[in-house]
Amino acid sequence: MLKPLQEVLPPKGRAVGAFDVVGLEWAEAVLEAAEGLDLPVILSVAPHLGGPPMGALAPGLRHLADSVRVPVALHLDHGESLEEVARALRLSFTGVMLDGSHLPLEENIRLTQLTVQLARAYGAGVEGEVGVVPGQYGPGKGGEEAPQYTDPQEAQRFYEATGVDALAVSIGTRHGLYKGPVRLNLLLLKELSQIPVPLVLHGASGLRPEEYRALIAGGIRKINLYAELALEAARALRGGAGEDYLGLMAGVKEALKRLAASRMRLWWG
Ligand SMILES: [Zn+2]
Repeated sequence: MLKPLQEVLPPKGRAVGAFDVVGLEWAEAVLEAAEGLDLPVILSVAPHLGGPPMGALAPGLRHLADSVRVPVALHLDHGESLEEVARALRLSFTGVMLDGSHLPLEENIRLTQLTVQLARAYGAGVEGEVGVVPGQYGPGKGGEEAPQYTDPQEAQRFYEATGVDALAVSIGTRHGLYKGPVRLNLLLLKELSQIPVPLVLHGASGLRPEEYRALIAGGIRKINLYAELALEAARALRGGAGEDYLGLMAGVKEALKRLAASRMRLWWG
């Protein structure tokens, strides 16, 4: 059943999975995994990834979310403008992110305040971001730039000024896959976790189980996943034994369900 973002965020020590979906079969896979584990889940749509148009996908996602027992939030990931946020809310998204992380702090605060105002009118939750998580599947240019780590004072000021329900932070992760070793700044995370808001991890693909555990122990309560799902779906397609389209897609769905379930189990603890 569809729930506001703020109602599916767990207490400290656990993290809810937020899976970027680019097709209805992806959403079906994630929801079956959540039902199997009896866990809340977040279906995210990130327009910058270039999947089906949000207006086409949203009614289907809402229908699927309404037909399961577990709580499901429908979330706009990396919203790029207030217009996009408003459109998502009208399409019954229950959570929205306006990503103003690349803007000067005060401008990020101003846009996020307006996002919070809009979302509250719909009873929806809001995620903001301070610091920049770089990488191939991110909303920026991609490429190899270094992360702009979240400044704890800026994050505190942002939270107090906006009252967001969740805060995305940059602590060394990247959108997409890692070419070199991952350098997580757990000390910085510890400082950020003093802010009384659930912290969100972007760029979570390819981390080891012990890294996930350390991040969740450090205050991460929502974990976004896309790159690994996209690669897993492609692998399933290439190795697919189905003799026609639907046969192949059944294999994709099964592979996505398995991956989503294993992550959800690990993250929830
Ligand atoms: Zn992201």
